[in-house]
Amino acid sequence: MTCAHILGFPRIGPDREMKKAVEAYWNGTIDRAELARRGVELRRRNWRTQIAAGLDFVPVGDFSWYDHVLDTTALLGAVPPRFGHGGGEVDLDTYFRMARGRAPSGEPQPACEMTKWFDTNYHYIVPELYQDMAFTVATSKPFDELAEARDIAGDQARPVLLGPLSWLWLGKCQGAAFDKLTLLPKLVPVYGEILQRLQAGGAAWVQIDEPILALDLPPTWRTAFAQVYHALQIPELKVLLATYFGPLGENLRTACELPVAGLHVDAVRGTGELDQVADWLPAHKVLSVGVIDGRNVWRTDLEAALARLEPLSRRRGDNLWLAPSCSLLHVPVDLTAENRLDREVKNWLAFAVQKLDETVTLKRALTEGRDTVAEALEASRQALAARRRSPRVTDPAVRARLSALDPAMERRRNPYPSRREAQRARLKLPLLPTTTIGSFPQTAEIRRTRRAFRNGEIGEAEYTAFLREQIAFVVRKQEGYGLDVLVHGEPERSDMVEYFGEQMAGFAFTENGWVQSYGSRCVKPPIIYGDVTRPRPMTVDWATYAQSLTEKPMKGMLTGPVTLLQWSFVRDDQPRRDTCLQLALALRDEVLDLEAAGIGVIQIDEPALREGLPLRRRDWDAYLDWAVRAFRIAASGVKDETQIHTHMCYAEFNDIIEHIAALDADVITIETARSKMELLDAFAEFEYPNEIGPGVYDIHSPNVPSVEEMMALLEKAAERIPVERLWVNPDCGLKTRQWLEVDQALANMVEAARRLRRRHG
Ligand code: GLN
Ligand code: ZN
Repeated sequence: MTCAHILGFPRIGPDREMKKAVEAYWNGTIDRAELARRGVELRRRNWRTQIAAGLDFVPVGDFSWYDHVLDTTALLGAVPPRFGHGGGEVDLDTYFRMARGRAPSGEPQPACEMTKWFDTNYHYIVPELYQDMAFTVATSKPFDELAEARDIAGDQARPVLLGPLSWLWLGKCQGAAFDKLTLLPKLVPVYGEILQRLQAGGAAWVQIDEPILALDLPPTWRTAFAQVYHALQIPELKVLLATYFGPLGENLRTACELPVAGLHVDAVRGTGELDQVADWLPAHKVLSVGVIDGRNVWRTDLEAALARLEPLSRRRGDNLWLAPSCSLLHVPVDLTAENRLDREVKNWLAFAVQKLDETVTLKRALTEGRDTVAEALEASRQALAARRRSPRVTDPAVRARLSALDPAMERRRNPYPSRREAQRARLKLPLLPTTTIGSFPQTAEIRRTRRAFRNGEIGEAEYTAFLREQIAFVVRKQEGYGLDVLVHGEPERSDMVEYFGEQMAGFAFTENGWVQSYGSRCVKPPIIYGDVTRPRPMTVDWATYAQSLTEKPMKGMLTGPVTLLQWSFVRDDQPRRDTCLQLALALRDEVLDLEAAGIGVIQIDEPALREGLPLRRRDWDAYLDWAVRAFRIAASGVKDETQIHTHMCYAEFNDIIEHIAALDADVITIETARSKMELLDAFAEFEYPNEIGPGVYDIHSPNVPSVEEMMALLEKAAERIPVERLWVNPDCGLKTRQWLEVDQALANMVEAARRLRRRHG
């Protein structure tokens, strides 16, 4: 039978119930039994929603109290030694200590590392791999949840597991490097036992996710796929192997030939190879086509989807299944919870619940005929047509500007060496100039006042006066420390994207559009639906006010085009590149307005540049090409004597260092303190041409670095970068720190710079 199904549903709950429950457990407000009760309730609710929508299967195991990769790690008993797990069941508090270092019970320990899940903004807990590690089935979560789901959904309950190869791939070897595949002989039997128990628990199908099939894999890994899945054949249990986030590429044949009962492919990102998959996948296997975009919030063009599906359906009959491209973890839960969203824009969107309906509609159209869903098809057609026609989507002036882009706009007037002279004459900075990355502590008072303003409890004038006081306070503080280039402190921003998005046309904001970022942390990404413009200056008043309070140069502070793009849901009706270039043009205007208002130093933050890298190497250059162009368009309008800074929160850029240099920012500040400047090894081979500020203060830690520590880091940096081109600054913004720490750390940082000036000057 042709089935409608999903790979996973958002686990946070329509009202972020998961976050509330887990945080209440962490701070002792509720006990473990109550937490468990709330988990059952939430899962049941999710399954009921899915069954009511008409799905043929519901995923079991997509729910998690923190992260599904960590769930797998715990299931396999792969607890790092420092957590003192003596074998046996991995209990909940051990699990939370791995995730975040502490839990209501048990010794606090350094948490496991966290990193981005493929190219999403979801973060997983990195499995720690030890050469001598052993695996056992160490939690009962999948079996308990299967039993729970069978009560509600009967045979429609289908367990989901993260596959052994993806789990291994995502893990990180501890100690001396070793070939991760050497762990397989120990790992596969444990997976075998898990599958056996799921079958015994009533599962007829199990979904095994192997998203690494969308990556560049070494041949040894491809070979391992065949071996592993041969070993994992369990009588009476059918495996649906799920891949997503991109085309299979050279892994296509491997995936199609695996001894599994079905294969799910991402037909949104892998749209071009769908026919090839259909050719290679034997006819007796199920082909699950992920035609609905699980990574974005737009309504599906159902007719276009049907046009692709109908020929496949004729070929494969019942062995064609329908689903969203990937788990719905990456989209908000329910559009109907949005009451303030603009009606017109709302009609163009589909969140997780709406995507269930779309999936079921497609199935009906295929199995019972288009007529049976004529109304839904018509609604889809109309919404799409309205979106295409809407004057809010297309702004002819933006289009004209984009098509008139002149390569000269991507270049500063003169190369860096002449700019350097002009900037020196204007800014008169000492050797090893000191600065910060932009934000200062966002105190409870700032957050409270922002809330009061948003709720209408205080007026605009009062709020502005409050923010000005904050700015004046931060300027006085910085003069007190003796910093050379000051900032206004960003008290007006809740975050780096929302503040700008709210002031630009083409952006929409949801009330409730939460998506899990990591653990209990959720984010509410803006939605870019139309051509982007900046109706009026966004930061000029704050910057000029701050500058009026000091003789020192004040650094204007902007979020760059790639980061604005990367941290939003973006339109799917034009290439990301075009949206990014529009953002760049809007920012270019802001940069020029800042310059005209007398601001001589302007920072354009691009912390998301690296995370935007495509999953496949062969796509890197195309991405980096437009990403770098966008930055340069934003930055290059200014005169020689205006100094452009950029900031990135990561240091591992050995593999893209030439592109970073191509941004041609006069100064770049980066995160290096934690790695003890090791990242600067990249600079041994590649001479970075402009100025650079490797962070000397790890702002992720409450520890205050001493003068000597920071001097030592700077000396290390000076071995790689000429001291005339070095800046002295923290790793990142200070918004999450306490004033007490900041006072001491920045005073020490300035002192470290002074002492080194004497040494090198
Ligand atoms: N200017 C921003 C700040 O200081 C930069 C934040 C970031 O890099 N993530 O907070
Ligand atoms: Zn940063």
